[in-house]
Amino acid sequence: MLDIVKEIGKKKEELIEKISNVKDNKDIEILKSEYIKKFLGSLYKELKNIEDISLKKELGKEINEFKNFANEKIEILKDNFESKRNFNKYDVSIFKENIKIGCSHPLIKLYKKIENIFVSMGFSIVQGPEIELDKYNFEKLNMPSHHPARDMQDTFYVTHPNILLRSHTSSVQVRTMEIESPPIQVISPGTVYRVDDIDPQHTPMFYQVEGLMVGEGISFSNLKAVLIKLLKEVFGTSIKVRFRPTYYPYTEPSAAIDMSCVECGGKGCRTCGNSGWIVVLGSGMVHPNVLEGVGYDSEKYTGFAFGLGLNRLALLYYGLGEIRKIYENNISLWKQL
Ligand SMILES: [Zn+2]
Repeated sequence: MLDIVKEIGKKKEELIEKISNVKDNKDIEILKSEYIKKFLGSLYKELKNIEDISLKKELGKEINEFKNFANEKIEILKDNFESKRNFNKYDVSIFKENIKIGCSHPLIKLYKKIENIFVSMGFSIVQGPEIELDKYNFEKLNMPSHHPARDMQDTFYVTHPNILLRSHTSSVQVRTMEIESPPIQVISPGTVYRVDDIDPQHTPMFYQVEGLMVGEGISFSNLKAVLIKLLKEVFGTSIKVRFRPTYYPYTEPSAAIDMSCVECGGKGCRTCGNSGWIVVLGSGMVHPNVLEGVGYDSEKYTGFAFGLGLNRLALLYYGLGEIRKIYENNISLWKQL
């Protein structure tokens, strides 16, 4: 009897040692067969041969204890292996064919290009709200109520007359100047809204990039240099750029900027309405009323501002033809651009 108890103790120690060396399920099966089937089987046989009831009871207790011990250890081992195997199911290195990979939207790609050009010239990026107060969208941009220029942009009102969806990113100019002192050199990208029917050239929501540079001695030459650099870096050095006098209430003088048509090289085609030129930007020197309105001394500080329609620029840049194509989520087309 004592020998058997000793043997059980020895087997326990052996089992613990072997468990620490188990490498796979096959090893677990070997342990099960060796310790549960064979060794326990032999113990039960021994038990049968014992006639002394109290001895039989005592040995039975020892055997049961070993049985529970071995079963529990092997069960834990199996669980550990199972969870490891489940984890291994997600092998990230396995190659899967035909996975559809997305890509950046062409507007974003073009915007990033434009942003990089401005950042390289020392501009920083600012943003403002899309739901805007009338005073930032119109009033402080030299367009008090009943100013006829307000009709140039058909506006969506949230609560008439004070809260609206911004009709241009120029609102961010005022917000920036209110909290910062010159020199200022910023661009502000974002969505703008105007009441418009959807047609090949118009959508009621589109993207603008606004720019503003204010400081001492800023002149129209600075405006020209910055915007010519922008257009030539985006469309190539062979394009021609011209500045045409126009009217905006918030700039004086104001200039519309035309670029030679990228489709026909200036010869005249459908895209440029046979003129050879395409309007790409609105710009001008910031109106003294706007500067005074935010507390700047317009005798000391001057500046220029400009706005470009990203959607229109994207049509020309990618040769898309229709503005609606920008919103069609045609990933296979985007990947070619
Ligand atoms: Zn053309």
